[in-house]
Amino acid sequence: MSFDKPAPETGVYVNRHLKMSVIHAVGFDMDYTLAIYRIEEMERTAFELAREILVRDFGYPRETLQARFDPGFVIRGLALDGQEGNVIKLDRFRHVRTAYHGRRKLTEEEIAAIYRKQRISFSSERFEWIDTLFSMPETCLFAEIVEMMEQGRYPVVDTAKLCRDIRVSVDTCHRDGSLKGQVRRHMDNYIERDELLAPTLHLLRSSGKKLFLLTNSELEHSDAVMGWLLNGQLNEYPHWTTYFDAIIVTARKPGFFTGHEPFLPARPDDPAQTVRTLERGRIVMGGNLRDFEQMFGVHGEHILYVGDHIYGDILRSKKHTLWRTCMIIPELQREISLTRRLTPEHYRHVRLERERENIEREILALRLELRNAEHEPKEDRLRLDQLKRRLRQLSGEADQLLARMESQFNPWWGPLLKEGADTSFFGDQVEDYACIYTSKASNFLRYSPVHFFRSPRDYMPHELELWGGAEPPQAQEGDGG
Ligand code: IMP
Ligand code: MG
Repeated sequence: MSFDKPAPETGVYVNRHLKMSVIHAVGFDMDYTLAIYRIEEMERTAFELAREILVRDFGYPRETLQARFDPGFVIRGLALDGQEGNVIKLDRFRHVRTAYHGRRKLTEEEIAAIYRKQRISFSSERFEWIDTLFSMPETCLFAEIVEMMEQGRYPVVDTAKLCRDIRVSVDTCHRDGSLKGQVRRHMDNYIERDELLAPTLHLLRSSGKKLFLLTNSELEHSDAVMGWLLNGQLNEYPHWTTYFDAIIVTARKPGFFTGHEPFLPARPDDPAQTVRTLERGRIVMGGNLRDFEQMFGVHGEHILYVGDHIYGDILRSKKHTLWRTCMIIPELQREISLTRRLTPEHYRHVRLERERENIEREILALRLELRNAEHEPKEDRLRLDQLKRRLRQLSGEADQLLARMESQFNPWWGPLLKEGADTSFFGDQVEDYACIYTSKASNFLRYSPVHFFRSPRDYMPHELELWGGAEPPQAQEGDGG
């Protein structure tokens, strides 16, 4: 079998070196990792159910039911500011760079007045992080109701309470079976079929790695979804459970990584009272990291865990275990193909920035000259005015070009992993906590099971200046030899 370099959209990207040859077990999360839900369908259903719960359980007015689901408005990695009624996006320095009140974009002055006057703790209860695709309906519902309030189509309510009540409503539709019941009745509508998933799991197994499933979903849902994804796919595997050497449902991550819950048999036909062994095909529930490693017989950095939730799957496992992590980012495929398409614009932007820098330098030098000159030479004054005009023009051009590029990703928020020229807060977390990341689990099929995932060299800005290009720079005067 040959493993050619995959297309960028299906590549695995590396933050920290990872040798697959020393990985003895690969674990998978289920929802939005093995099972990629169709966001439009899945999150629209959650949105509609949450909207009803707000009216039914919290007494919100009937106008709530008129709130429209607009998946085009939200991306992951945003936060709801309950106190101000805003939705915000942060860069990697935790600076709010983009903010909306309803559908109105806040000006830079407004952002500065609200978020830059004093240090804000973004981990406080005031903020609700939208870090899983399951949280997207919350953003939609919150922004939509705030917008209706602004337009006078909705009574004025306390936005901090609204934010909390929306959270509970979305939580309720996940817990009371209403959302998952609908998913299971119309699996084709809600989940994307990935023909390469079964061969991927088979490839990893065939190379001697143990596989396990570790999901927060409960037995009924996991069984239905995994069965729909894998049953009947490969002759060697008569039932989905046979792909895995351990199957843990209702795992309560991130508590699984930190707590001491016992493992319990999950199936009603499992006669055991307690769980002493994890076996191929057997489904257990609950549990904790320490017992898992002890029963499974694979430990620490020999385990690679593949998940989609930066907090529950990736950050917690990174902080509390030595497990290596792979983050699944379904949005990545589209982000990469857009990035590819925008390559000419990117380089045009780089050239504009470079010209801007050169002109700024020339302006400074001229100013200095003018200040020191006894008589102001007329040509210098004219040249200075000319340079200032060019600088204004360049800045406008560069800013407009960047804004046009960003709006291709999302007209409201730009790309998921970037904020302007910086990495976004979400992108920064991916860089910090995920050893590797990719758009879907079946991308592993494109790599040998003993592949060495090498991270690109990590340049600091001063090194980038000197060593950034692929070729050594032209020898400079005074380089000596
Ligand atoms: P996993 O990604 O396979 O670990 O499963 C995630 C589980 O969490 C799914 O069963 C979701 O329905 C569930 N879930 C997602 N958001 C919420 C929530 O807000 N409240 C309760 N359960 C949730
Ligand atoms: Mg998940």
